[in-house]
Amino acid sequence: MFPMPQSAEELERFKRNTSRKLDGLQCPDHRQSPRLRFEGETLREVTISMSGCCPKLMALANAAIRSN
Ligand SMILES: [Zn+2]
Repeated sequence: MFPMPQSAEELERFKRNTSRKLDGLQCPDHRQSPRLRFEGETLREVTISMSGCCPKLMALANAAIRSN
């Protein structure tokens, strides 16, 4: 487990890092970018929801987010 400082700063950093992973990602079929939304007030309870034009883009976006 990694330590979880429950600060707004940590949460913002997490959001930035996650968003960065999707930078430049586009659907090969539709040239759309995925949309990312964060819910939750702390790093512990934050959830990510993504939307995109089609399942192919969602698969690409999921893979990008899970990678480092
Ligand atoms: Zn698409």
